[in-house]
Parts: sequence; structure tokens; C-alpha cells
Amino acid sequence: MANKQPHPWTAEQALERLKEGNARFVNGEAHFPTVQKEVLADLTQGQQPYATILGCSDSRVPPEVIFDAHLGELFVIRVAGNVLGNSILGTLQYAGSHLKTPLFVVMGHEGCGAVQAALASRFEGASHKSRIEVLLENILPALDGVDPGLAPGPMLSSAVEANVRWTVRQLRETPEVKAAVAGGTRMQLVGAIYELETGRVRFLD
Ligand SMILES: [Zn+2]
Repeated sequence: MANKQPHPWTAEQALERLKEGNARFVNGEAHFPTVQKEVLADLTQGQQPYATILGCSDSRVPPEVIFDAHLGELFVIRVAGNVLGNSILGTLQYAGSHLKTPLFVVMGHEGCGAVQAALASRFEGASHKSRIEVLLENILPALDGVDPGLAPGPMLSSAVEANVRWTVRQLRETPEVKAAVAGGTRMQLVGAIYELETGRVRFLD
């Protein structure tokens, strides 16, 4: 199943494509979801997505829509709070080793309920159902640098960004990413925040 060749796109081209798609979406010029029979026929031959997106399950942030991307373009993982876990790491490993997507994006979003719940656990001693607690444990370490004196809105924004950066940092520590960096591959890993009000995706440095 593995593609033997490196992906034909560079990470820079993939990132540019995402930015252009998001601009179409924001400007009301999206192409999706028109699907032609020829496209479907092509896709029966396999997939070669140019980007892997780890995003939140929130109904307001579907990556294909936000980036105006077609079937076969994005390899998407969605989990509340865009956190890591074994199944997610396995899916990312598949994307890297088999699909060879040149670009990996960890995308959080404003108003994230999972991050909000983690903030409530951390600063207000809130408790949640057991499996939700397990999920939130993945977010809590991200909140170390969040200023507890902030007003609720800015605090959530700050926590959302910290959570994306935390996930990116953890991924950078994986053997696969370290090897990719050491080997000088063209793979890129970036963080991003989706802005609910504007529809814009802000890519982090
Ligand atoms: Zn969310």
C-alpha cells in the first residue's frame, strides 16, 4: 500500500494550497462540494493527499470545507481538542510512512469546548465524566504557561494556542519527526488556529 516515491508536492506547495483554499472559503468563492464522476473514478486508484490535518471534532471546523479541499486532498484526523493518543499517533505514522504527505498541520480553533473544559479542570477544580477526564489529561500540560489572571475570552484563546503548540512540540519529539528533521526531508509540521468569526486560518510561526 505504501507509495514508494516521495510525494510529488513540497510542503511549501501544500501550505500554499491550504492558504489559497482558506481564502476562497473566506471570500465565499469555495469550489467544494462539486464532485465529478471522473474525480471519483480517479480516486478508486488510490489516494495521494498533500496534507495531513489533526483537528478538533467540533462541528464548526471541518478541514475540507475550511480549506476548500476536494476528496483525496486532505488526510484528516479529528478528535476533541486535537490531542494526541495512541490511535492518533498510529494514524499520523501511517500518513507519514505510507501516504508521505509533505505537510502536517495541527489545527485548533477559537471557542474550543475541550480546551475550555481543561481550563475549568485546571483553574476551577471542575470534574468531568471519566473518559472525558482521560481526554483532558492530554490538554492539561499545555496550560502550564496560561496566565490564570486573564479574562475568560483571552484565557481561552491563549489556551487554544498553547494546546496547539503543545501537540506540535510532542510530535517534534517523536522518533519519526526527529529522523525526518535529521535526514533533511522536506516534511513540514505547522500549528494553526481557525478563527470562528472570520473563517480564517492563522498559521503559527
Ligand atoms: Zn474544539
